[in-house]
Amino acid sequence: MSCYPVHNNTPVAKQVDSIYESHLDQFLSEGEYKKFNLPHLYDHQRIDHSIKDVENDPSRGYVNLKVYSVPNLKRPNVNEIIGKVDFEQVAYKGDVFGPSWTTFWVQVEIRIPDAWSDYEQVIFEWDCDNEGLVYTEDRQPAQAFSGSERTEYILPEQWQRDHNIHIFYIEMACNGMFGCGSTDQIAPPDPDRYFVLKKADLVVPNLQARALRCDFMILQQSAKEFPSSSWQKFRARQLCNEIMNKFLPEEGSSIEECRSLAKLYLGEHIDSENVEETNTNQTKVYAVGHCHIDTAWLWPFAETRRKIVRSWTTQLNLLDRYPEYRFVCSQAQQYEWLKEDHPETYERLKKYVASQRFLPIGGSWVEHDTNLPCGESLIRQFLFGQRFFKSEFDIYCDTFWLPDTFGYSSQIPQICRLAGMSRFLTQKLSWNNINSFPHTTFNWVALDGSQVLCHMPPADTYTADTNVSDIIHSVSQHKNLANDQAGLLVFGIGDGGGGPTPEMLEKLRRCKGVANTVGLLPDIKFGNSVDDFFDGIFKRTSNAATLPSWVGELYFEFHRGTYVTQSELKSAMRKAEFSLHDLEYFATLAFIRIPNFKYPFQEINQLWKTTLLCQFHDVLPGSCIQMVYDDAIPMMQNVFQSSEKLIKNILDQLGFRQITNHNILPDYLLSTLPWNVGGVVDESVQASPVSFYEANKNPNILARSDNTVKHPARAYESNGCLVLRTDKLLVRISKAGLIKSIHDLENDREVLDLKSGINKTGANQYVIFQDTPLSFPAWDTEIFSLDKYRLLTEGKAQLYETGPLKASVLVETPISENSSIKTIISLSGFNNDADRPSVDFSCEVDWHEDYKFLKVEFPVDIHAEYASYETQFGITRRPTHYNTSWDIAKFEVCHHKFADYSEYNYGVSIMNDCKYGFSVHGNLMRLSLLRSPKQPDAHADMGKHYFRYSLLPHKGGLSPEIVRAAYKLNSLFRFVNKNSIETNTEALDFIRVEGDESIILSNVKKAEDENAIIIRIYESLGGKSRCRLTLRNCGIKSATKCNILEEDIGQVNLQKDEADCSLQIELRAFEIASFKLTL
Ligand SMILES: [Zn+2]
Repeated sequence: MSCYPVHNNTPVAKQVDSIYESHLDQFLSEGEYKKFNLPHLYDHQRIDHSIKDVENDPSRGYVNLKVYSVPNLKRPNVNEIIGKVDFEQVAYKGDVFGPSWTTFWVQVEIRIPDAWSDYEQVIFEWDCDNEGLVYTEDRQPAQAFSGSERTEYILPEQWQRDHNIHIFYIEMACNGMFGCGSTDQIAPPDPDRYFVLKKADLVVPNLQARALRCDFMILQQSAKEFPSSSWQKFRARQLCNEIMNKFLPEEGSSIEECRSLAKLYLGEHIDSENVEETNTNQTKVYAVGHCHIDTAWLWPFAETRRKIVRSWTTQLNLLDRYPEYRFVCSQAQQYEWLKEDHPETYERLKKYVASQRFLPIGGSWVEHDTNLPCGESLIRQFLFGQRFFKSEFDIYCDTFWLPDTFGYSSQIPQICRLAGMSRFLTQKLSWNNINSFPHTTFNWVALDGSQVLCHMPPADTYTADTNVSDIIHSVSQHKNLANDQAGLLVFGIGDGGGGPTPEMLEKLRRCKGVANTVGLLPDIKFGNSVDDFFDGIFKRTSNAATLPSWVGELYFEFHRGTYVTQSELKSAMRKAEFSLHDLEYFATLAFIRIPNFKYPFQEINQLWKTTLLCQFHDVLPGSCIQMVYDDAIPMMQNVFQSSEKLIKNILDQLGFRQITNHNILPDYLLSTLPWNVGGVVDESVQASPVSFYEANKNPNILARSDNTVKHPARAYESNGCLVLRTDKLLVRISKAGLIKSIHDLENDREVLDLKSGINKTGANQYVIFQDTPLSFPAWDTEIFSLDKYRLLTEGKAQLYETGPLKASVLVETPISENSSIKTIISLSGFNNDADRPSVDFSCEVDWHEDYKFLKVEFPVDIHAEYASYETQFGITRRPTHYNTSWDIAKFEVCHHKFADYSEYNYGVSIMNDCKYGFSVHGNLMRLSLLRSPKQPDAHADMGKHYFRYSLLPHKGGLSPEIVRAAYKLNSLFRFVNKNSIETNTEALDFIRVEGDESIILSNVKKAEDENAIIIRIYESLGGKSRCRLTLRNCGIKSATKCNILEEDIGQVNLQKDEADCSLQIELRAFEIASFKLTL
């Protein structure tokens, strides 16, 4: 106490918190006071390549740029450029490059000044505000540029000492990380965007000054983010102020002293991967680097291929520089593209995969949508994805990775488990615009009871930074801290590619330093994989037994317009999926029946790969720019055409000549469905309808019957109405084309209710809603759009076909001056007394609207709390009321081939051949047809559309009959005559499924690797069921149950009876089961 003065003549002010905190902003600011602060010292040396005046250019002799402009929006590869084209045009800073989507190659000539030979590092700084990639003289990708975020290429050390002139190349793409949007990111691309070269400098960085920048950032963030109740907040602020006071802008030597002050808080070892772990608390935040590259979105597929090499080359460099760093990366398709385009880079990547630092994840071909693809497509995403990872890296992924997809359908956990995956990561539900999803770490349970361990990163993003706030959020926003405390931080620039920056890795070291030195921040673990993270959860939660669970779909309360937008692609997808189903069916049949038949694996798998690619989570949902659809729609149409061509060829080999000429009457209809689809068929074969019947107790080949039916359909006018009638249904249609009554004659029941609900005008009522969502036009439709609508009641109806096979009415309905709908409403005659006919609708829409949503309404006399919607391999039930905010959120939902609304003893199903949006509320069933958003594709859905749907009233509730009818509506029947060569119609008798009708034969294919066939079935309605699966005359030797990767998972009892063999099968409710039958 002796030195404590008696008198105080030096008053000290208590710091005014807000002012002292704001003061810290000055230290890293590039603004008015830059010369007094740290940015002033970032460079030791800089040669500013800036002046177009050649004589006075300070960079003359050190940096010379020459440019080659690639014509016609082409994207040539490096081998077509280096040594092949002339770099003539000299370029300078300030030059302008463009327009949008063009490519320039820049030849850069560098000579490092002799005086720089002793510096630690020399970099080339490049900023043209667009994406670029450095290629070395020997044509290897070396470093990406992306405008302000990534501008540095570290030059090889020997260039500092050899005093030679060195050359490298920059491939410059005239698009930003997010394409070429004009006014905002999701606006349609501006075709005339130009990019200004801002930097092309040689720089000696002051590495210590730049390190101090990261130190200070984390200290300042601690001062800002930590609570006022913590001493750590004030200690951080105090140190920041001390650093600023110590800092001398004219003397670099003060930096060392400033860094020493920072290390009092950040710890001693922040400059290496050895940030010590002194804290013994359980690790709570696991940080992994990631780079989300949308496989197409605001740029086309072709640009994605370049984004991949740009992003991953840069990440490989970071793996070289930061030993603790690990990077996770999904989408087998992207790996395959890199392998094709840049084999040397791919080899470099493979080495890091082997050392478990570049970590393939996800197991799927692309990060696909899960609402819209059919069940088999979901399975193939994993079959193709996992097989790729296995063959290239000898691994199967454990974690399904879909951070950005728009909702997750209810059978995903079962499919994951069948693909060898037990973990799932997403975070998109944090975007819900109504309800906050209640879990972070939980068990997600499928329709059949299968589960996966799900984690949603609590920072609510897959493109996190590594700031103090990101670390804090990884705990503070964790919703299951009572169950487990770990959170995954997925950091790195994404969507348009990129990934972590060096600064992110530096900040992460410092955050870890804070956690270890002063505490308060949760412990951070890097150097671990996502698998390690999930392993830890399993360990701490008794194999997830103590975690809460969520059963059924993870409905995304946002982006509900994606069930409809870009309808033409959705339609092409549905048709391709059904065609591929048939192609594999017939190819497998031929493989069994025809000696030496060559199963067209390569062709089939290529068609599947295209299909899977187009299911990417922006492509199929409809949220891409027009350029993507200019590619994707023809791609999917080509899948269909190629598949049909292969089928035609196979049928020919089987002895059948396919009839595609409408003037030739076919003898037979071929069906791949294992039940009798006999009846009247008129689509895609004849100008007039034809009837077929099951001739030889074989549902796969039906014979043409004569032109009569036992129960004919008729059409006539009566009492001012147009009437369609069969022995079972009576449909009255007004002259304006609205259905006023559907009377079920067999059950003596009126199907429609035009008295009690919002729609009292009629069924098949087209409605136009104003569709102006709050954000994201292609993605979203909002609940308020349901309030503003216009009924289209001005149609004109006339009799069109009068029976007996088919009776129909043609309705022409104007929508606006530019748009209109033509609808044929029909009933078909039938032979079988047990048949239950539907009312069928075939539509042609000419659509030229602006932010309008077209739906069709059916007010029905049904009252039930839930409606059933077909999803992949099952049924999702959703409320028909608005009890809770969770119910309200589901005002528009996704479905597949049908939606059903049933009371216990009667119901109505609506089936479709290419539509996905639906809603049932009160007595109103609404099928969503077309949208017209203008962003990011200004012309989305404009033009002609063709689609069909059917209304099927039925006694009793939802039954196998509905599932089958929806399959029939979508199936692509083929019409054939016998070939001149010997034709054996019995050869088509292939697979029989007998027993419970809810079991559906899903797909048949040849096994990928073995001399075997794969048969997939599922239980479609939710009840334990049995069936007998018989293969006729197939020479099967043995059978096993297998997973979707075609690995054996259990024995089955194969019964042989002469040439036939059969399996007795029992399935759980909604089980998907695959069997491998070895030849
Ligand atoms: Zn995405």
